[in-house]
Amino acid sequence: MKTIIEPFRCKTVEPIRFTTRSEREKLLKEAGNNLFRIKAEDVIIDLLTDSGTSAMSSEQWSAMMRGDESYAGCQSFFRFQEAVQEIFGFQEVLPVHQGRAAERLFFSQTVKAGQVVPSNTHFDTTRANVEALSGQALDLRCKEAADSESDYPFKGNIDLEAVTELLEGKGPDQIPFGMITITNNACGGQPVSLDNIRQYSQLLKARGIPLIIDAARFAENAYLIKEREPAYKEVAIPAIVREIFELADGCLMSAKKDGLANMGGFIALRDPELAARLKDALILTEGFPTYGGLSGRDLEAIAVGLKEVLSEDYLRYRAASAKYMANGLRANNVPIVVPSGLHAIYIDARQFLPHIPPAELPGQVVACQLYLEAGIRTCEIGTAMFGHTDPKTGLEVPAHQDLVRLALPRRVYSQSHFDYVIEGAERVYRRKGELTGMKIVWQPKALRHFTAQFQSLPQAAGTGSEHCPRHGKTLSTAGAGK
Ligand SMILES: *Cc1c(COP(=O)(O)O)cnc(C)c1O
Repeated sequence: MKTIIEPFRCKTVEPIRFTTRSEREKLLKEAGNNLFRIKAEDVIIDLLTDSGTSAMSSEQWSAMMRGDESYAGCQSFFRFQEAVQEIFGFQEVLPVHQGRAAERLFFSQTVKAGQVVPSNTHFDTTRANVEALSGQALDLRCKEAADSESDYPFKGNIDLEAVTELLEGKGPDQIPFGMITITNNACGGQPVSLDNIRQYSQLLKARGIPLIIDAARFAENAYLIKEREPAYKEVAIPAIVREIFELADGCLMSAKKDGLANMGGFIALRDPELAARLKDALILTEGFPTYGGLSGRDLEAIAVGLKEVLSEDYLRYRAASAKYMANGLRANNVPIVVPSGLHAIYIDARQFLPHIPPAELPGQVVACQLYLEAGIRTCEIGTAMFGHTDPKTGLEVPAHQDLVRLALPRRVYSQSHFDYVIEGAERVYRRKGELTGMKIVWQPKALRHFTAQFQSLPQAAGTGSEHCPRHGKTLSTAGAGK
C-alpha cells in the first residue's frame, strides 16, 4: 500500500472547543496579541510546541498504574534505567525533571568560567545554562545551513573545519567537552549525519575531550539518517541509535520530546566517578537519585515511550505527516524553510509579508493572523523573540530571521487537522496585502516573547522602521552567529 496511515487508533478523545472569529478577536485583544497569554481551551489546533504535548499510548498509561512511588530504590527507576541502558548504551543513568535540569546539573559539575563549549547549535536553555556559569556556548553550524535554497540533507551538521580550528587554538583544558544537538532544534530540526558525529567525536577524542549529545530528538535524527545517509538505508533504527551513542561519552535528554512523555528527562554517562559527583549534586535540587524530581509513574511512562519512539512504523508516519503539512503549505505558495524536519514546519514570515519590515514583526503578524483566521496557535521565532528595542533610539533591532513555527505534537493531530491548518494558512496568505505590521507596547526586561503585548500598526506605514536595517533573506541562521 502507498498510503501511510497513523500506526494507532483512538481509545480516548479530548474534545476541541470551537470559537468564532469574533470571539477570537476579543480574546486576542485581551491577550495583548500574545499567543502565550491565550488559554489552551480557546485554541482549536495547538502547534505552540512539540514539548511535553505527546499523546501517550495505552501501554504507557497501563505502565503508569505500575508506578512505584517509594522514595528510594523504586522498581520504576530500575525499569527506567534498564530502558536507557539498553537503548543508549550508557551504564550511569540519572533521572531529572526535564532537559534543562539535566543541563544545569551537568554543567555545574563540568563547566568553569571562561571555558568554551562548542556545538552545532546550542538550544536556548543549553546556551543559558553554559553562560550562567560564565562559560562560552559556541555555535559552529555547517556552511550549507546558511543557504536557504540548499536542500543539503544534513543541515544540522557541525562545521568540522571550524571545530579543527577551535581545537588548534585552544588547550584541551579550555574545552570541558563538545556537544552536538540531534536533531538541531534551534535551526529548524535539521538532522546531523552519523558521519558528521563520527568525525566530530574523533577530533575531540584525539585531544581527550568528551562528547556529550543533546538527545531530545534522537529517534527522529536516527530516522533521517536512515532515510538520507546511504550507508544506513538497511540498518534498523535501534542499531543506528546505538551507533550514534557509542561515539559519545554521555547524553542529556529532555524526555518531553522523543521520550513520548509529558514530563521528564535524564543524564546518561559512561564515567562512574562523574556520575557519583552528579548524584550528590542532584540530591540538592531534584531529589533522591532514583527518582530525580519525577514520580514513579513518570519514570514508567518514559521507559515505555523511549521504546515506542524507535518503532519504524511510528517514525515513518511522523515523517509522512510532517511532509504532508510542508507540501500542503508549499502547494498554496506559503513560504516555508526547506528541507523541513520532523518536529515542526517553519513559515518564513519575511517572504510571506515582504511589505512588512522585520522591525514591524512580520512573524508576530502571521502568528496572530493564523489564530484569528482559524484558532491555530503557533510560535513566532523571530524579532519578537530574539530582537530587542534599542534603549537610546527606541527602535526595534530585528533578529536574523522571522519565522513562525508550526510545531507538531506527537500522535495528537490527524490528517484532517493538518488540512484545516493548511487551509487557514492559505486564507491568511490570500489577504497578506491587507496586513500591517505590529509594534510592542509593553515588554519585560528579559524573555520578552512570553509576556510582551503587541499592537497592530495602522494601514499607512512609516513608524520609524525605515531607519532600521532591512535584513536580507538569511534563512536558517537563527541561533547561529549570535
Ligand atoms: C527542549 C529541549 C531542551 C530542554 O528541555 P526541557 O525539557 O524543555 O527543559 C534541550 N535541548 C533541546 C534540543 C530541546 O529541544
